[in-house]
Amino acid sequence: MLRKNHKKNFIGTSESYLRNTFTDWKPYRIHQIFNWVYHYGCRDFSVMTNLSKTMRGQLIDLFYFFLPKIQNKTYSQDGSIKYLLRLEDGALVESVWMPSESRKTLCISTQVGCRLNCSFCLTASLGLKRNLTSGEILGQCIAINEDLEKRDAITNVVFMGMGEPLDNLGPVVEALRLMTAPEAMRLSTRRVTVSTSGLVDKINSFQKENIHINLAISLNATDDETRNRLMPINKKYPIKTLMKCLRNYPLKPQRRHTIEYVLLRDINDSDEDARRLSNWLKGIPCKINLIPFNSFESTEYLPPLESRVLKFQEYLINQNFSAFIRQNRATDILGACGQLATQSKNLSYA
Ligand code: SAH
Repeated sequence: MLRKNHKKNFIGTSESYLRNTFTDWKPYRIHQIFNWVYHYGCRDFSVMTNLSKTMRGQLIDLFYFFLPKIQNKTYSQDGSIKYLLRLEDGALVESVWMPSESRKTLCISTQVGCRLNCSFCLTASLGLKRNLTSGEILGQCIAINEDLEKRDAITNVVFMGMGEPLDNLGPVVEALRLMTAPEAMRLSTRRVTVSTSGLVDKINSFQKENIHINLAISLNATDDETRNRLMPINKKYPIKTLMKCLRNYPLKPQRRHTIEYVLLRDINDSDEDARRLSNWLKGIPCKINLIPFNSFESTEYLPPLESRVLKFQEYLINQNFSAFIRQNRATDILGACGQLATQSKNLSYA
């Protein structure tokens, strides 16, 4: 997508695009530019003095730099910060920065809104406005890192904000490559997680890209009838198909999938559900994250009782699964899973 006098945003531009554009350049030249941009935060081609003047001129003719602008910051009691970011066309997305002792995790968005219409997720109420570009996906990390103190710099990234990452596969893959490339953002693949509602075809395509980041799958129900109701995408890819896909997904040694399971009171939190969940997951290398439902105003669902959550977890642990109760972050500022949307809904989309 060429904008601004047909120029393209350099942030997010892939190595393969640059190679195809500058066919007579040696590949290390592209790495040199990445170093300037992603390590040194340089936003001016003219100062990249280890490139020839001609090269710098070519870059200036074809590219410009744009990062999402921070429109608003909301601080949670737990130390998290929700960022409202404005993109070039005025569209708004949210990202949430969550610090802990051992890591600083940024939860990023991949779409403005979402089209999957999960009934327990607030983002669904926006519908899909548009996909984000790779530069907008990556730009969330860069813009927020620039806002933070050095010691608070992002160490982990989760694609769990607004949108369905695999519904915007190409840009997500490009962003992931730059995020994990040693010559670009240099994040370890172990520290990056993409969360999906289970688009089986796209999981298979993603696998072929050979990017070994972590996959998290939002399962959220143990029978098709309930899952159809919670996540309409289940009608296209029912539980059995999804499980088969995960079973066949080649994982590197020591790696496992994350299964996310949002617990909704009296909907999917019974002993019977725990039993069925453990049956589905037998033979799949995984850990399970139990997420007590985060409530919002217009919802028909209720959070589970704490005693239920503990019993559900205990059953899974007794079946030899690693099962964690995910501590909900930023709930006081509507910054937790499934709560991103309201602010952007109230502020108009330009
Ligand atoms: N579309 C992707 C990523 C965004 S949602 C996906 O479905 O995985 C990220 C996680 O938040 C998913 O596991 C989703 O099931 C969960 N989630 C959505 N709404 C929620 C809510 N209200 N409370 C708790 N978790 C929620």
